Amino acid sequence: MNYQSTRSSAAPVTPAQAIVAGLAPDGGLYLPEQFPQVGPEQLRALVGMDYEGRAVEILSLFLTDFSRQELAAAVAAAYSRQKFAPPQVAPVVSLDDRTHVLELFHGPTCAFKDFALQLLPHLLTGALAKTGCQKTAVILVATSGDTGKAALEGFADVPGTKICVFYPDGGTSNMQRLQMTTQKGGNVQVLAVDGNFDNAQTGVKQIFTDRPLEEELDGKGFLLSSANSINWGRLAPQIVYYFSAYCQLVQDGKIALGQQVNICVPTGNFGNILAAYYAKHCGLPVARFICASNQNNILTDFLTTGIYDRNRPFYLTTSPSMDILISSNLERLLYLLCGRDPAKLKGYMDQLSAQGRYQVDGGILERLQAEFAAGWADDAAAARTIRRVWEQYGYLCDTHTAVAMDVLAQYQQRTGDATPTLVSSTASPFKFADAVLPAAFGVPAQGDDFARLAQLAAASGLAAPAQLLELQSLPERFTRVVPPDRMKQAVQDWLLGNG
Ligand SMILES: *Cc1c(COP(=O)(O)O)cnc(C)c1O
Repeated sequence: MNYQSTRSSAAPVTPAQAIVAGLAPDGGLYLPEQFPQVGPEQLRALVGMDYEGRAVEILSLFLTDFSRQELAAAVAAAYSRQKFAPPQVAPVVSLDDRTHVLELFHGPTCAFKDFALQLLPHLLTGALAKTGCQKTAVILVATSGDTGKAALEGFADVPGTKICVFYPDGGTSNMQRLQMTTQKGGNVQVLAVDGNFDNAQTGVKQIFTDRPLEEELDGKGFLLSSANSINWGRLAPQIVYYFSAYCQLVQDGKIALGQQVNICVPTGNFGNILAAYYAKHCGLPVARFICASNQNNILTDFLTTGIYDRNRPFYLTTSPSMDILISSNLERLLYLLCGRDPAKLKGYMDQLSAQGRYQVDGGILERLQAEFAAGWADDAAAARTIRRVWEQYGYLCDTHTAVAMDVLAQYQQRTGDATPTLVSSTASPFKFADAVLPAAFGVPAQGDDFARLAQLAAASGLAAPAQLLELQSLPERFTRVVPPDRMKQAVQDWLLGNG
């Protein structure tokens, strides 16, 4: 299976090359040349496997230059019981006959990005070896919170890698800061930047484009790399959990093998829902996708009208991981719907960068709407839904999942569609205790972060995740603050030891 860029017909590359490169040289995103097919018999076989087994089967379809042994080792390291709370890696909880919640928050950071970022380091080091590169991969991340921690957890102590995360000093929640500053591992570095997220991100971009630095590091055996969400190595691991969830429903007798389901996803960058789309087009029996947005409802507008227009206000919501106006992974879907015509796709992307807006043609809109429904929920609707789901089912969901649950209810009311639905649950409610406490229980959150965890545990009768509780007693390892113009020096000091 080779990989093609969305923006040119340049020669395709191997899976390993696509993972090492991240972005294609023409600025496009890599995707597989075809959809590999999982037939009914293979699907039946997957039902009898555990998560790790399903992961190896699905990944081997996409990462054809990795041996099964390599994939099995990577999967075992990524999804071990030490990293994902037992009993299951990605459990499915059925609220009623047609509402099934796929819980993607039992990993080290209690959010779904763990699925990609636990596996990516192993795929990256494997891919580097395959492309003949002997260097240590140095991952640089600028983060406003969650991605940095997930990347740290994924790369910590993975041989052949080092990771440095920059976060804005005072620009994250205290819990997010503690998650990073207490990070374990001999190959990790965490630095606060005396500035905002943009300063941190600009600083990282400058380091990536600094040719003299690149040469200096190259001479010392280092290769700078990113753990960016557009890397195919982050998308592929997400396809697995949709297959796994479907198999779980079959195994639990909730659906028959071959029966169609809908999939409802709280969406930001369009990565998670695109993985579901890939699962369908590889043979998973899926009828429709329901794309759920918060008040930043640019995708709802796009899927309704065919117009993508980022010239609009940006809102900070209680579902911050969906506060996004440019959904980068949408480019991959559009490319497919353009009939894999890079020139046509590039026309839209050029309009987006020049005018912040494009309108797809009627044929593309029709194909989009044949598979995608869309809707959005503001903070108040999400809060009401947290309460409703708690009262109706005794199930506590976080603010992102609540957006999906609300949009699903709107969709079902509007269409009468009674197809069983998998709802992607992307974060633990304990990660968003501030918003969940008043929504579910009508009480304000009180005290510090750890008091709030205890408060939510007491109110719900659920145990707070150990990954969050333990932060209270872990030593803070990283306390250094650097000005934005010293970020490069800090990286040099860390890697080359001249400081
Ligand atoms: C990243 C994230 C999302 C959005 O996922 P995309 O793949 O960017 O669409 C939703 N919820 C949570 C909790 C997230 O961390």
